[in-house]
Amino acid sequence: MINERYLRRLRVKPGMQVRLGDYHTGWAQNENLREAGKDSVKERALEILEENRAALASAQELLWASNTYAVLIILQGMDTAGKDGTIKHVMSGVNPQGCKVHSFKVPTDEELDHTFLWRYWRALPNRGEIGIFNRSYYEDVLVVKVHPDRLVNLPPGKRGKKFWNARYEDINAFERHLVENGTVILKFFLHISRAEQKRRLLDRLQDEEKFWKFSLSDLAERRLWDDYLHAYEDALSMTSTEMAPWHVIPADHKWVARTLIADIIATRIQSLDLAYPKVTGEAFEQMKEARRQLEGE
Ligand code: ADP
Repeated sequence: MINERYLRRLRVKPGMQVRLGDYHTGWAQNENLREAGKDSVKERALEILEENRAALASAQELLWASNTYAVLIILQGMDTAGKDGTIKHVMSGVNPQGCKVHSFKVPTDEELDHTFLWRYWRALPNRGEIGIFNRSYYEDVLVVKVHPDRLVNLPPGKRGKKFWNARYEDINAFERHLVENGTVILKFFLHISRAEQKRRLLDRLQDEEKFWKFSLSDLAERRLWDDYLHAYEDALSMTSTEMAPWHVIPADHKWVARTLIADIIATRIQSLDLAYPKVTGEAFEQMKEARRQLEGE
């Protein structure tokens, strides 16, 4: 497990104005890590990731058996930030029956004919499940804020600060409702540097087998880097709450991001102090009788 004090620094304090420039994207985030050196930090990180994969698998089984909470994990980040790889690597040990991933794309006409939270509401995890949102309702205050022309089918009116503040409030109210009714929400912003995004995009363009991952729109969105950064800063500042905190995850190195995210999820589920349901009283006697009958066959 990773030091709690270190993890706390990744969590956005409610009410705080976030400046993403103040957050690291690389592995060398403090004196101790720098002194240890990259190879040794990476080796230890991969060990912790392995431990947490196992911890997550048993935590999920308990979540399923106790059927009291749902867990909603939200992954956001600039293009190429590593959302898909994180899901694949962090959840690889988890029983697929208890884990659902939803990747949200440009909304369909039907989705646009409803209020913005509708499509996410329908995809929420059931009790006992882990749900992962690969992109989420935060897109509606990120890409849509950067491209306000994508706000369609809404009554006419100003699309200024008041409009966006109302959306942040809607999101906070939505999340409060979920938490109050037994959903644990963990939100991760995969924070990469602009230079790292360039490397990853170039990598896709230099290897024919990775061409399919490249989209020309990635380049157009990259030109809007600063607009996205500001939209993220506003969203993180306005929607990090005690109940549903944001974590800013250094993501220039995939092993760093995956290790931190796996640790935060495993630790949070373990903190719920779940237990397997106990069979007692008459039901216990019935079990004993059933066993006796089967053994006697
Ligand atoms: P990904 O980049 O997640 O692997 P795609 O390349 O298909 O998958 O990108 C999905 C696209 O859908 C992104 O450009 C994203 O901005 C867009 N998108 C997601 N949610 C919304 C939304 N609510 N409104 C407008 N666009 C959205």
